[in-house]
Amino acid sequence: MASLYFKYAAMNSGKSTQLLQAHYNYTERGMNPAALTAQLDNRYGEGKITARIGIDLPAHTFGKTTDIFAFIRQLHDAKALDAVLVDEAQFLSEEQVFQCAKIVDELEIPVMCYGLKTDFLGKLFTGSEALLRLADNIEEIKTICWCGKKATQTARISPEGAVVRAGAQVAIGGNDMYVSLCRKHFVNGEAKAMLPVVKKAQSAA
Ligand SMILES: [Zn+2]
Repeated sequence: MASLYFKYAAMNSGKSTQLLQAHYNYTERGMNPAALTAQLDNRYGEGKITARIGIDLPAHTFGKTTDIFAFIRQLHDAKALDAVLVDEAQFLSEEQVFQCAKIVDELEIPVMCYGLKTDFLGKLFTGSEALLRLADNIEEIKTICWCGKKATQTARISPEGAVVRAGAQVAIGGNDMYVSLCRKHFVNGEAKAMLPVVKKAQSAA
């Protein structure tokens, strides 16, 4: 039975790396996965999923008005698909999440969505909110704050390293604009507290 998966995380958790690994596993078994990413994410050029470990994968893109069900059915008709892997799934609209569910239910193709749960203000993204409601299978990809606790929040930081508390939800610039923090350090705006830890270690030596 095919399922709709939502694998969510804070920024820099290796989500794209996991997607690329899943894609590799399918192709290694002679299967045919389709990879999709958001059109607005052109950090590394359009139509490419890039993992921070330095590998990338050509990908189809979805925009705000893309009918993902129709698009995938067309690909599936041309060559049977075994899986659909969606990166930057937080940017899906609610309607597009329903289209992903329809791919699972009517075409019986598993759909794995990878995305951020919350934005830099700690609010759910539209796509993530719909996926949390509709996915059969929800998994957290864990990463850690500088303090060692689980990072559940993604903070946007200014060039000076201060936590930004206002602005547009989407500001694609690069991974260095964001840091993953635990709730306490997100709420307190402590993004750069790595420094005293380093100092302490040096004075102890
Ligand atoms: Zn922390």
